[in-house]
Amino acid sequence: MDIINPANDSIITSIKEDSIEVLSDKIDHLRFGQKEWAKQTVAHRLKCIVRFGELVLENVNELATILSEETGKPIQQSINEIKGAQNRIEHLKLNAEKWLAEEVIEGLETTYEKITYEPLGVICNISAWNFPYNVGYNVFLYALVAGNAVAYKPSEFATLTGLQFQKLLYEAGVPENVFHCIIGGAEVGEYLLESDFDGYFFTGSHKTGQYIAKKVAHKLVPVQLELGGKDPLYVMEDVADVKIAAINAAEGAFYNNGQSCCALERIYVHAAIYDEFVKELVKEVNNYKMGDPLNKETFIGPLTRKAQLPILQYQVEDALAKGGVLMTGGTEVNNSGNYFEPTVFKDVNHEMKLMQEESFGPIIGIQKVNNDEQAIDLMKDSDYGLTSAVFSTSKERADHVFDQMNSGTVYWNCCDRVSPNVPWSGRKNSGLGATLSVQGIRAFTLPKAYHWREV
Ligand code: NAD
Repeated sequence: MDIINPANDSIITSIKEDSIEVLSDKIDHLRFGQKEWAKQTVAHRLKCIVRFGELVLENVNELATILSEETGKPIQQSINEIKGAQNRIEHLKLNAEKWLAEEVIEGLETTYEKITYEPLGVICNISAWNFPYNVGYNVFLYALVAGNAVAYKPSEFATLTGLQFQKLLYEAGVPENVFHCIIGGAEVGEYLLESDFDGYFFTGSHKTGQYIAKKVAHKLVPVQLELGGKDPLYVMEDVADVKIAAINAAEGAFYNNGQSCCALERIYVHAAIYDEFVKELVKEVNNYKMGDPLNKETFIGPLTRKAQLPILQYQVEDALAKGGVLMTGGTEVNNSGNYFEPTVFKDVNHEMKLMQEESFGPIIGIQKVNNDEQAIDLMKDSDYGLTSAVFSTSKERADHVFDQMNSGTVYWNCCDRVSPNVPWSGRKNSGLGATLSVQGIRAFTLPKAYHWREV
């Protein structure tokens, strides 16, 4: 498997994909290791994860370079991701022992009752490339602390980063038969679906997630899916500062080149501030520096996957044909590498693919609305349900919108944000189950109920 640098199409290195034999050896190894790992205290398992976090920080520059080279993520954003993901470890440090402890039910007279949380066993984590630290940590760190062994398949577009996770986890004291990085793409993923696991935890597209859920349904083991989004923002006319609102919206749409599951993908703006908002947003986007991901000044790098370029081009042509007004960008940059100009459309509508299908790239559509009810109707008009945002000085008006959103997360005056303190979950085509928060660790356990009566 060639690892390609998306900034210049060069081959960074070639790696051997796991064969069925290698894979089944790894899984057997994990089965054996998990039994011993589960016998360790939570404190011991946590100590290994904390050490892993320290090692990651000690090597942040090298790790960021690896991530930027294989995914095209601008280097400053790679550093931000690696440092930002540490909050999962802090969160586990504070809470894991409490959340995994047995719970004794108080105040009973004749029967003693308690709940214990046992690990699932050996879990399979098939992951995405866009934020491999964030989405990887959400699964494998929480799973390990809960006493599971993990077969972690990074995306074929983030394999080198996945191998670094393995190296540093081992160095931090996680036994080699408790975590294995599985090397390969969709075909190796298929082997994993046919193998024997105690849970499947997937991050990626709706199409693959739905396929996986169907394929493993007969096993009756937990399946969690963190999938795509088409996340809306509504900018009300009472925002304190239209320019600041536009700058924040642009960042929400274009950070990581728009390749974030919770990136803004649709913007609705009240008519009273529409023209000013569009002007400020376009000005901000035109100031973004596009270029070499290893340059610290770069904000827009290449897309990670070449296959996304024609999808974006198609969305542009479709929006133009249906009356959208192109304000900036609109085409692939014909150098080597997967560069696409940051693109802004105004006067879009829901007939356009740009407002219906996940773009996952540096492109945004802005639509004018006349009142909150019209905005709510448009925000709800999507097959996805990951996040919904409102920029406004009125919490009451924002809450009125949020009450009607069928999304796992709602944001008031912020967006494109994930916190370990609260569950991360998608509804409808955006996913199934939750990571992070207490739910995100319990997801890797099986509760056992005890009823004890002395006779
Ligand atoms: P993808 O679905 O193409 O691939 C995801 C993973 O699935 C990869 O590891 C891939 O090798 C594997 N895979 C592909 N086909 C498979 C098969 N038949 N069997 C088993 N495994 C298979 O997605 P991607 O391009 O890596 O990620 C982008 C998508 O992920 C976007 O839709 C994005 O919104 C979503 N995402 C969601 C979240 C979230 O938390 N909700 C986070 C990050 C990314």
